[in-house]
Amino acid sequence: MDHILLTPGPTPLPPSVYKVMAEPLLHHRTSEFGAVFQRVIDDLKLVYRTKNEVLMMTASGTGAMESAVVNLLTPGDKTLVQETGAFGERFTKILKAYGLSPVVVAETWGHAADLQKLRDALKANPGLKAVFFQHTDTSTGVVNDLKALAAAVHEVQPDALVVVDAISGLAAEELETDLWNLDVVLTGSQKGLMAPPGLAFAAVNERSWKACDAARLPRFHLDWRTIRKSLPKKETPWTPAVTIVTAQAESLRLIREEGIENVWKRTAELAAYTRAEVQKLGLTLFAKDPADILTGVNLPPDVDGKKLIKDIREQDHISIAGGQLHLEGKIVRIAHMGYIKKADVDAGLKALAKRLAPTHA
Ligand SMILES: *Cc1c(COP(=O)(O)O)cnc(C)c1O
Repeated sequence: MDHILLTPGPTPLPPSVYKVMAEPLLHHRTSEFGAVFQRVIDDLKLVYRTKNEVLMMTASGTGAMESAVVNLLTPGDKTLVQETGAFGERFTKILKAYGLSPVVVAETWGHAADLQKLRDALKANPGLKAVFFQHTDTSTGVVNDLKALAAAVHEVQPDALVVVDAISGLAAEELETDLWNLDVVLTGSQKGLMAPPGLAFAAVNERSWKACDAARLPRFHLDWRTIRKSLPKKETPWTPAVTIVTAQAESLRLIREEGIENVWKRTAELAAYTRAEVQKLGLTLFAKDPADILTGVNLPPDVDGKKLIKDIREQDHISIAGGQLHLEGKIVRIAHMGYIKKADVDAGLKALAKRLAPTHA
């Protein structure tokens, strides 16, 4: 029986993506690989909506987050993290691991960033080098209004860089790197981008390159300057996850053919459907500002969320994510991004319904 992935990363793969991964392995210093590499970079620019350079790293998404910290900052730099869930907290942890002491503006989980609160924090903390955001926080299923938030940073602190973790949001929800003046936008291969886990990307603008050249934190494997030097040769400085690069090229081809705006629209429609169906089951939504990538669902207090997820996985062969950190056992998260289809969501809802709302099953 096929196993259905309704998890917000990794997400299911289109059949043609599996197929290219079964082809003979390419060597990474060849023109054949260079052509595939270049297709990934060029197609990613369409998805990012940017003319900026796009860098490829063999790492999980967290590697992309760490790369932004080490490539932009110097010991003693002032930074601000806008937290809207577990992934905002991760930026804070990475900054602290490198000896920095970020100002943290935290929202109650389930709420998007509050523009006025951010403005106040920007005014109260002059001299920031960088401000860190999530596009969508996958732990809470909220989407942030990056257009407005980035504009506030540029207005109040014109020298501060806007660094965005779009690891789950890119290729799922509207994001305009250039139009919204996002200085650095990070992503990973395994969510909206419909490839296996293993690749991380960063779109980096000119202002950020200046910061990168001046930054003094230690770096080596993820040094953007080294990666940038390899771009004209259509390769990466170190051996990349070649198989995932070929997979990523194929999934980006599918996204290009569909059109990124159609991808956003399709994701929004499936999200609206899921939110409505969940409420029909008598369940409530966790997020006050819900994203289109996934729907967080509150579980009735007498339900053991961990057992529920285990039962659904083992008996119905469907993987649904639970809550992270303090939400563990209290919510489930149904993803509907990437190659996840309405039929998959329906199967997940049915599995939930028969356990939670027997009268509706
Ligand atoms: C998945 C995710 C990450 C971390 O990615 P890994 O590949 O697990 O390291 C970071 N931020 C967001 C918003 C994510 O969804």
